[in-house]
Amino acid sequence: MAQVSTERTRTADAALRARARSVMPAGMYGHLSVNLLPAEYPQFYDHAEGCHVWDVDGNEYVDLMCSFGPIILGHRHPAVEQAANAQLARGDTMSGPGRVMVELAELFVDRVDHADWAMFAKNGTVATTLWLPIARAATGRNRVLAASGAYHGAAPWCTIKLDGVTPEDRANNFYYTFTDLGSVERAFQEAGPEQVAAVFVSPFRHDAGHDQEMTDPDFARGLRALCDRYGAALVIDEVRAGFRIVHGGTWEPFGVRPDLSAWSKAIANGYPLGAVLGNDAMRVGAERIFATGSFWFQSVPMAASVATITALREENAVERMEAAGQMLRDGLADQASSHGIQIRQTGPVQMPNLSFVGDTHFERAMVFAAAAAEGGALIHPRHNWFLSAAHEADDIKRVLEATDVAFAAVRRRDVRD
Ligand code: PMP
Repeated sequence: MAQVSTERTRTADAALRARARSVMPAGMYGHLSVNLLPAEYPQFYDHAEGCHVWDVDGNEYVDLMCSFGPIILGHRHPAVEQAANAQLARGDTMSGPGRVMVELAELFVDRVDHADWAMFAKNGTVATTLWLPIARAATGRNRVLAASGAYHGAAPWCTIKLDGVTPEDRANNFYYTFTDLGSVERAFQEAGPEQVAAVFVSPFRHDAGHDQEMTDPDFARGLRALCDRYGAALVIDEVRAGFRIVHGGTWEPFGVRPDLSAWSKAIANGYPLGAVLGNDAMRVGAERIFATGSFWFQSVPMAASVATITALREENAVERMEAAGQMLRDGLADQASSHGIQIRQTGPVQMPNLSFVGDTHFERAMVFAAAAAEGGALIHPRHNWFLSAAHEADDIKRVLEATDVAFAAVRRRDVRD
C-alpha cells in the first residue's frame, strides 16, 4: 500500500485553479466546485486505484467521497475495466446500441423487483427529468409532488439554485415534508388529487447540509397507498443510494414497489450512465414520449454496468461496505467522545454523514475536513460520504488516524473560541 506523504504541497492544483478561473465560470461549477471547501481540499486529481486517489501534486488520500457515489467497487476495478476495454476495442459510440444494451436491460429487470423494463441515458439529472414526461404520458396528468429540500438534480424543475429559473419551470411542482404523510395528503389536496401524475421521493433523506433521516417503513407504505388511492405514480430517486443499501431497489425490504425509479452514479462504477426503470403500468408512458441523446447508446458504459452489477452481487459489496462503514462509525464515535466533542452520525453506515452539534455554519466541519485532508482522508464537511467495496480494515484505520488528528484540531478551535 502506498504511503501517505506527510508534507502536502498544492502548487500544481493552485496553478490549474488559476488557469481555470480565466476560462471557466468561477473556475469550476456545481457540486465539484471546491470554492466552499477548505483550502486544503484538492480540486484536481491525477489518478485513482481501489479506494485511493492522488491529486495533481501527488498527494494520496483514502477516498471516502467515491466521486460523490459512482465508485462503488473501487476505482479501476479489474472486472469492470476488462469489460469496458473489451467493448472499447469493438466500438463505443456506434450508429446504434450494441447487444450489451439488451443484456443490461435484462439484468436490471432481473435484479430490481419493480422493473419490467429499463431505458438508459446519461447522468442522474437526465434520469430524474425523464420521470416527468413518462409519468405524465402514462397518467394524462401534469402535476407532481416532491419533498421540499430534496435534491433530484440540476434541471430547472428541481435545481436547488433559483438563478436562471422561472416560476413557470416549477409551476407544476407541489411540496411535502419527507416522512410526514399528513403533508403528502395536504400536497395532494393543494394540487388537486386528480391532477397529480407522480410523487417523487428519495429512498431516505440525504439532502446535503442536513443530517440524514432514515425512512420509516410505514411512511413508505403510506406513500404507496396514497399514490394508489389517487392514481398517481410513485417514483423513487435511486441515483445516490442505488445498490449501496441493498442489491436491488432500496425500498424492497419494506415490501414497497415504486412505479418508476431513476438510477445513475454507482450502476457502472464510474462510467457515464443513467437508467430509468419502470413497471408495466408506466410502459405506455415511456413508449409515447420522445427521449434520446447522441451519447445515450454508448456500449462501453453499458458493458461496464453489466460487469459492475454482476461483481456487486458476486463480491458481496453491500456487506463489505456495511462492515467498513460500521468500523468507521464506531471509530469516529469513540474518538469524538474521547475528545469531548458532540457529533451526530446519521444515515446508513455505507453512506455516512457526520455533523457537529451546534455547528450551524459548518465551521467545525470545515476544520475537521481540512485536517482530515491533511492527514490523507478525503471527506466532505456538509455532504454525505461514500464507502466502496474496496475499503478494507487497513484503509479505515488510516482514515481514523487522520480523523483523530482532525478531532484534536476541532477541539483546539473550540478552546480558542
Ligand atoms: N438525484 C440524487 C439523489 C443525486 O444525489 C444526484 C447527484 N448528486 C442527482 C439526482 C443528479 O445526478 P447527476 O449529478 O448525475 O445529474
